[in-house]
Amino acid sequence: MTTQLVYRYLERIGNLLRAEARQARPGARLQPVQLEILHYLSICNRQSDIPAAVTEYLGLTKGTVSQTISVLEAKGYLEKVPDTKDRRVIHLKLTEKGRAVVEKSLPPAALRDGLSSMPPDQRELLTRQLAALLQGIEKTHRYEEFGTCDHCRHLRRSDEGPLCGVTNSPLAADELDRICRDYAPVETPIEKVA
Ligand code: SF4
Repeated sequence: MTTQLVYRYLERIGNLLRAEARQARPGARLQPVQLEILHYLSICNRQSDIPAAVTEYLGLTKGTVSQTISVLEAKGYLEKVPDTKDRRVIHLKLTEKGRAVVEKSLPPAALRDGLSSMPPDQRELLTRQLAALLQGIEKTHRYEEFGTCDHCRHLRRSDEGPLCGVTNSPLAADELDRICRDYAPVETPIEKVA
């Protein structure tokens, strides 16, 4: 019963938010999948802005992602930048135009208003619970886990500031809350639910 109820709520919320995003200007000029890719690129870190990570995060096929990226590049919403160390790796960077469309369209106003109607402690609890649900789905069905540095076991603290244990690079303050494909959470047991 719990599973059916949670599915019903999430499905309805997802439908309403997608409908809002479709109607919002200037995002209305873009298809939902195009907006989703731009949104992902606006929240991911520098080691996750590559086509393979977009494919993993959105659960789409490589072909769809590659085609959509080409359209977004042709329309001037993003640009492809070769990695400075390995020229075979291509990073996808939002242009000013791409950043503007995300800022003006997402998150949909309906989500902001719905959250504002809840008491602050319930908003915080909901955020933690949704994060736990997402982690449970990713873990039990072996999806790539995306998360931020503050909850990652690769985060190292040094006198010079935070460091990433995967890339051995320093992390700037504004990188700590960006989502990352190399994220690895501390293991937590998962209970079975009806
Ligand atoms: S510390 Fe973890 S989340 Fe942060 S950049 Fe490194 S691997 Fe990614």
